[in-house]
Amino acid sequence: MVTSTFDAVVIGAGPGGYVAAIRLAQLGKRTALVEKESLGGVCLNWGCIPSKALIAAANLVEDVRGAAGRGVLVEAPRIDVDKLRAYKDSVVKKLVGGVGQLEKGNGVEVLKGTARFVGPGAIEVTGSAGTARVEAGAFVVATGARPIEIPGFAFDGKDVWSAREAVDLPEVPKRLVVVGGGVIGLELGTVYAKLGARVTFLEALPQILGGVEPEAVRLVQKGLRQREATVHVGAKARGWERRGAALVVRAEVDGKPLELECDRILVAVGMRPNSEGLGLAEVGVKIGSKGFVEVDGQYRTSVPSIFAIGDLAGPPLLAHKASREGEIAAEAIAGRKVARDWVAMPAAIFTDPEVAAVGLSEEQARAAGHETITGKFAFAALGRAIAIDHAEGFVKVVGDKATKLLLGVTICGPEASDLIAEAALALEMGAYLEDVALTVHAHPTLPEAFMEACKAALGEAIHALNRPERPRRDAQA
Ligand code: NAD
Repeated sequence: MVTSTFDAVVIGAGPGGYVAAIRLAQLGKRTALVEKESLGGVCLNWGCIPSKALIAAANLVEDVRGAAGRGVLVEAPRIDVDKLRAYKDSVVKKLVGGVGQLEKGNGVEVLKGTARFVGPGAIEVTGSAGTARVEAGAFVVATGARPIEIPGFAFDGKDVWSAREAVDLPEVPKRLVVVGGGVIGLELGTVYAKLGARVTFLEALPQILGGVEPEAVRLVQKGLRQREATVHVGAKARGWERRGAALVVRAEVDGKPLELECDRILVAVGMRPNSEGLGLAEVGVKIGSKGFVEVDGQYRTSVPSIFAIGDLAGPPLLAHKASREGEIAAEAIAGRKVARDWVAMPAAIFTDPEVAAVGLSEEQARAAGHETITGKFAFAALGRAIAIDHAEGFVKVVGDKATKLLLGVTICGPEASDLIAEAALALEMGAYLEDVALTVHAHPTLPEAFMEACKAALGEAIHALNRPERPRRDAQA
């Protein structure tokens, strides 16, 4: 068997692994990156990027449909599914190619194949040309996660889709049932609703988008209703059967049986870490009860030469978290004094309206012992939002009442996923509400809403009436 030796080997080329490999090479380490499928992982190939290409196209369809209201007269849009899929594929191809060039340009050797640990300092990589042994002083495992399959809904790629098939846009079914009202279900379900499918969501818990600010959830649900989608909460999907040409999903809603006829089913009930089949446990890496690998603040596992990052190292399952962790692990391997130390880990959900949050929610801030003040600004009062005909939603800020330190921001509305970046920077820099309120924001722009929300928290909003804060109901009790 051929043996090659590197300073460091990264396993998995998603946004965690490919970034770790680049950083290792930048720091002078002879690095290999092992990938069994395509560079870019879930994010580039069938997650973040292709879904956003579809979401942007679906938004365009809606803008065209609503154009007459703004005096732009166009024919009703029609969808060429093959062309839209080809566009999405071209976006993916461009970015995957870019990752390849970056790895090459930084001197990273990409090895195609499946890796398996045979010791704390060696893996075997099995590819089309056979199996090779690869030795290194350090390994970064970044193998990600995969969709959870639930009983009664085996993924068959035809009738029952996972996110992977749904993102590939095989067709736009007339009726789609989405099992799981989480991020993936709602993002992709919204795309299909905008492209013309009648979508029904089944969410087991009492609220879709668990953990998200309830007021934002209400606006997302309103958006779904406007697109003729139906949401059942407290709904457990039990199974499905074929009846004539239709599929019939059996569910239990608040204990009562419900049958839903549809043409395709998308199941998005969470992701499971890819920690099995890699030989990790066999070489002594500790794996927790949910399958996530246990790591320290530098992403080192219980085996000192092996690091684990990204989805494999635990929630939140976010590409940008994986990338940051990849940088930290790479720098730790290069001997730098680094550790996980971020203040702000933003999250963005590409529903309609979009929802994005960073830092503490009001509830979390109080649970952490803060007496809070909040400020809110509605996009309905913002010139730019009205001018672009997307004035739904709000920016809400939470601060510490005594010090006025900014603690958290939730944005629900147009471009929330972009707007949250300024809030993340503010939190990371330890900004006070006044810092944002006193920062001049260009007019007319959407970020003005963040400035106004901070002013509102201080009772100094200009484009909203400043009402004295009402005592909280729980404070009265
Ligand atoms: P999720 O955990 O966000 O949501 C799954 C939902 O399915 C939950 O609300 C759960 O209660 C529900 N559920 C579970 N079993 C069910 C059943 N039998 N019947 C009905 N409902 C059921 O998971 P996801 O949407 O699959 O996403 C996976 C991961 O990927 C998440 O961690 C998410 O944060 C991440 N992700 C993030 C983004 C983003 O940041 N924009 C986009 C996509 C995915």
